Amino acid sequence: MIKAINLTHYYNKDKALENINLEINKGEFVCLIGESGSGKSTLLSNLSTLLKPTSGDIFYEETNYKNIKNIDSFRKENIGFIFQFHYLINYLTIKENIKLANEKASDDDISTFLNSLGINDLKNKYPTEISGGQRQRASIARALINNPKVIFADEPTGNLDSQNSQKVFEMFKDLSKKGTTIIVATHDKNLAQIANKIYEVKDGKINK
Ligand code: ADP
Ligand code: ADP
Repeated sequence: MIKAINLTHYYNKDKALENINLEINKGEFVCLIGESGSGKSTLLSNLSTLLKPTSGDIFYEETNYKNIKNIDSFRKENIGFIFQFHYLINYLTIKENIKLANEKASDDDISTFLNSLGINDLKNKYPTEISGGQRQRASIARALINNPKVIFADEPTGNLDSQNSQKVFEMFKDLSKKGTTIIVATHDKNLAQIANKIYEVKDGKINK
């Protein structure tokens, strides 16, 4: 579903990724692991269209990223993003934050959806009124409301305790079983064990 061929990324003259080749299938739960500075985030950003490779190619199904004209609508149609810091808007309720991602979603739709994630009781709360773990679940809900085919998450549990981190990864596992492709960058090797596939990034290369 997503394929990188000889992907290389430089920040100015500094090489962050060198000749990465990988292929991720539909419905796979993939973890990119490695130490801080190894290149996980750069790899994830390239695979998710947020950064452009210096050289090499990335394909989404048959489409080369280079040939995507309207990247914004491509992202909207296909991709959900989850970051370490949730980026919920503090002066909007959880429901309003989710509505922002999908203005067509009705209140009923949002309730049904939040119920399935077990956080419907939080919908009228503001992000500052709920716990870090609950905020991260709300931000996952926001990433999912458009039913993306692929979810990219960069250190999604970086500010969560181990119990909430486990819950988030279990949520990813359930989603992948339903056919959503999940790609997560994490420094946490133990959490990563739940994934179908683990790539270890080291000095900008994949160790495998
Ligand atoms: P990780 O996610 O594994 O911590 P990164 O992909 O963030 O690794 O970083 C890989 C390398 O690229 C590091 O040496 C980092 O300092 C460098 N780097 C990351 N982002 C930038 C940037 N925006 N500008 C310059 N160098 C960067
Ligand atoms: P992570 O590894 O969790 O992605 P970092 O703390 O490495 O986060 O980086 C945070 C932000 O700073 C990212 O947007 C990254 O691109 C940027 N960054 C990282 N290293 C550098 C660097 N050497 N120069 C400039 N920006 C950087």
